[in-house]
Amino acid sequence: MLTTHLLDVLYFIAALSFVIGLKMLSHPDSARRGNILAAIGMGLAVLGTLFFHPSASNDVVEDDRMLKLMLLYSALAIGGFIGWRAAYKVKMTSMPQMVSLFNGLGGGCAALLAVAEMKLQYAGVHGHPEAAGLILVLFTLFFGSVSLTGSLLAFAKLEDLVKDSAITLPRHTIFNLGLLAIILGLIGYTTWGAGDAGMTWGLILFGVALVYGFSFVAPIGGADMPVVISVLNSCTGLTAAAAGIIYDNLIMLVGGILVGASGSILTVLMCKAMNRSLANVLIGSFGGGGTSAAAGGGDQTIREISLTDTAVLLNYSSSVVIVPGYGLAVAQAQKICKELDSLLEANGVDVKYAIHPVAGRMPGHMNVLMAEADVPYTKLFDLEEANDALKKADVAIIIGANDVVNPAALDDPGSPIYGMPVLEVWESKTVIVMKRSMKAGYAGIENPLFFHAKTKMLFGDAKDTLQKLVAEVKAL
Ligand code: NDP
Repeated sequence: MLTTHLLDVLYFIAALSFVIGLKMLSHPDSARRGNILAAIGMGLAVLGTLFFHPSASNDVVEDDRMLKLMLLYSALAIGGFIGWRAAYKVKMTSMPQMVSLFNGLGGGCAALLAVAEMKLQYAGVHGHPEAAGLILVLFTLFFGSVSLTGSLLAFAKLEDLVKDSAITLPRHTIFNLGLLAIILGLIGYTTWGAGDAGMTWGLILFGVALVYGFSFVAPIGGADMPVVISVLNSCTGLTAAAAGIIYDNLIMLVGGILVGASGSILTVLMCKAMNRSLANVLIGSFGGGGTSAAAGGGDQTIREISLTDTAVLLNYSSSVVIVPGYGLAVAQAQKICKELDSLLEANGVDVKYAIHPVAGRMPGHMNVLMAEADVPYTKLFDLEEANDALKKADVAIIIGANDVVNPAALDDPGSPIYGMPVLEVWESKTVIVMKRSMKAGYAGIENPLFFHAKTKMLFGDAKDTLQKLVAEVKAL
């Protein structure tokens, strides 16, 4: 009895730490502490469950109790070690892939719990299986499976292991709608019609849901990936919450609801950032490869600028807007970028950063990078503010960004990113683009900005170029 109360107290503390930790994550200054707080809460919840949950009591008599405990602790030790090593070693640029992988594993766990629970239900452990209980289990099974294979495919896409065109069927959306109809039919039949064969039909549903998760993510690519990643995130949260109801486990329910709700909010924010409705992204299935209709036309002259000219231009401007993108993260150039910023500020230049919501490869990617380089949060401007600042800027300097500054999003209806709000860098007096080549960004489309009359290209690796630029500015 005492242990049950103790467990309730631990779960309560853990739930509080999740909520406070989540709140603290919303600001770079407190994010690190928020993360640690939530991790401590999760640790308490796991330890509490191991030692104080009624099923862990020594009074429970089972033949294979020792074996089960050994399996449990081995899984904890192996999983904990792999997770710790992976998180410790992962490069900043590979974080989105790792988040996808961990998200998928969370969904997979919940799906396996649902299979185990289904087995218990059909074995009559909780009496005759009831429709409400079965639907909850099948719901967990479905969303958990979708999250597992969907996230694994998102991981492969982010890692550039698969190309959208290689896994997309001609009428993929119709194929997906067909699969979804089969899944709904299977859920209905398993719940109400299959009787004692329910377990077999439940396993068939498991298989089809795994295929659906893969197929659901297959046609969504290019610039729409941020939305699908946040949808998968909320799927995992909802599945964990449903598993919490099945196991009558408060902390699983609270944790799942928090992840599900924040994933859903993120989905809405990402859709807003892309100026798309969710249905449009998920069913419209565009955003993959393709080139803009205007890509080949118009003046294709590339104007280059030297390091010295760039240094002079920047140093004698009164306002400069820096646009960081994925390339800055790849080059790990955030600290040298901050050094350039400090130098220019010391010489009387006003420096701001324009942060696009989908720049980089994960939500908030650029905010994290800039926080790492100690750039004050007040210097980071979101899309709307940045577009106002760009109108008054002397120079917009784009460091490893591409899709988020592509004017085709505004003026080329044939472009796969048409309609997505972008940073209107061409409104400033001069645009400098730093990248290594003329290669496309994540959406795989050409960028007319590079041929714009105001644009000057400064080719090279972002870190290397910035280091040289800092030296040039110092020498002025
Ligand atoms: P992009 O992927 O559009 O472009 C990045 C550019 O950086 C490339 O064109 C590349 O050109 C350049 N680059 C790469 N490495 C270096 C380097 N070492 N030095 C200098 N330049 C380099 O990035 P954006 O940030 O503009 O846009 C993000 C894209 O990713 C959007 O399409 C978004 O939808 C998508 N996405 C975003 C997610 C999110 O949650 N934020 C998740 C998944 C996808 P080059 O090779 O010539 O150097």
